[in-house]
Amino acid sequence: MMEYFDFIVIGSGIAGLSFSLNVAKKGKVLIITKKEVIDSTTNYAQGGIAAAIGELDDFEKHIKDTLEAGAYHNKLSAVEFMVKNGPKYIEELKNIGVPFTLTSEELSLTQEGGHSQKRIIYAGDHTGNSIETTLVNAVKSNKNITVWENVFAIDLLVKNQTCYGLSILKNKKIQHIYSSYIIMATGGVGQIYKYTTNPKISTGDGIAMAHRAGAKTKDLEFIQFHPTALNLPHRQKFLISEALRGEGAYLLNHEGKRFMQKYSPKKELASRDIVSRAISIEEESGKVYLDITHKDKTFVKNRFPQIYKKLKKIGIDITKDIIPITSAAHYMCGGVVVNLKGETNIKNLYAFGETACTGVHGANRLASNSLLEAIVFSSEIAKRLKAKPKQNKFPEFPILKTVVCRNTAKNLSYTKRLIKEIMWKNVGLVRTTGGLKKAILKLEKLKQDFKFYTCSDTELELKNILDTATLITRAALKRHNSLGCHYIR
Ligand SMILES: Cc1cc2nc3c(=O)[nH]c(=O)nc-3n(C[C@H](O)[C@H](O)[C@H](O)COP(=O)(O)OP(=O)(O)OC[C@H]3O[C@@H](n4cnc5c(N)ncnc54)[C@H](O)[C@@H]3O)c2cc1C
Repeated sequence: MMEYFDFIVIGSGIAGLSFSLNVAKKGKVLIITKKEVIDSTTNYAQGGIAAAIGELDDFEKHIKDTLEAGAYHNKLSAVEFMVKNGPKYIEELKNIGVPFTLTSEELSLTQEGGHSQKRIIYAGDHTGNSIETTLVNAVKSNKNITVWENVFAIDLLVKNQTCYGLSILKNKKIQHIYSSYIIMATGGVGQIYKYTTNPKISTGDGIAMAHRAGAKTKDLEFIQFHPTALNLPHRQKFLISEALRGEGAYLLNHEGKRFMQKYSPKKELASRDIVSRAISIEEESGKVYLDITHKDKTFVKNRFPQIYKKLKKIGIDITKDIIPITSAAHYMCGGVVVNLKGETNIKNLYAFGETACTGVHGANRLASNSLLEAIVFSSEIAKRLKAKPKQNKFPEFPILKTVVCRNTAKNLSYTKRLIKEIMWKNVGLVRTTGGLKKAILKLEKLKQDFKFYTCSDTELELKNILDTATLITRAALKRHNSLGCHYIR
């Protein structure tokens, strides 16, 4: 029997969960997610969510800062849509129980790089986890929403530029599910790079899947590298939130001297592309550090409890010690092209969150605008969708046979490492045309030589990593001049 849902949402981060909660009055929603429901990038966000709610702030200032960070490559109407709807969704998050940090009953505001005002609303240094767990609880108590965990979206079912559903891997079997609204909220791509702040789920599945189905992608060359990831050998590149610099932390070179004044009048609070490149230049002479030891110890411990605890465990007391840092792949500014209704060029196919390219971020994302973009577009568009969708007639799509995996685990992990190395070396923070050409040749060769089997998450993710890496490299090759976070030497 054909399995039909009014809405199918792929992904359980802020974009997928917010869309589902706001559309559930109109019909039955199925959320599928490839790991557990909580597994998302959203869960790792530390710093906060931007909105122009401060006394000295206004929409114009937020718009101006967003455009400036994005090197004016942004789509103005999308920026306005996000900024003007922002405060409403902060209020909604507060009302459903997100425990934002308060100062005498008002929301506390902090500042981050590229913002001219204090406009970041936060919940300690675990804003993402607070939002994710609150949204998950709301979804679990909504009778119109069903969540399937450990189900992998393989490909979209598209005929004549219309999407009818998708093929999934569920309990090791391939099956099809159908809907009149298919929502991609599959997050980012960080795992295509050797060093990244992103969790394991960020393998570019949505972008690869959408491209295979004929959806347009844009601005994929604009990968944001976060300037301050922990830099210790054999340790994950744990993110040290930008909010530390917002609260006054300094960047120091190997001689223990501040250097950002050489690169920007905004010093440590310059936008991420400027700070990341400054760090990479300083790294040519030695290690770079983040220093918040001059701030009150109790304040630091209370303001950054998670970072304090995590680093203390590995022998760094951030109230006394400087923190070794470096850049790591962090955020995809481009993605699957959508309009102000969340629609892609394929009928019935929508995209939200990091997977989508609304045009908000331009060539470089302004810090803490991503949670905002994800919640505003997904929620507002879900609310504006009109009637309950009608169950149409669906064309037949042949189901792929479930196949046996023939690649060994060793083979798969070797190939993954190879792609990540290629991307880090040639399509990273500083790029050259020669390096990009080398990368594309290597990636295309891997595409020709490596046989994938539609049999496990690991194989499917690797295929998506390779497809997304190739798309990003091709996009980077097409842009000959530096812009925002695409830097050509
Ligand atoms: C360490 C870190 C800190 C950050 N801090 C901030 C911050 O302070 N402020 C801010 O604004 N932004 C921050 N960001 C960015 C922000 O967290 C993300 O851009 C945002 O959470 C993305 O939300 P999303 O819903 O689009 O995707 P995600 O939260 O990544 O969710 C994607 C979902 O899709 C699922 N999925 C993916 N592929 C498939 C598939 N094939 N089949 C089924 N399911 C699939 C995943 O399992 C996951 O549930 C941070 C990012 C990182 C990594």
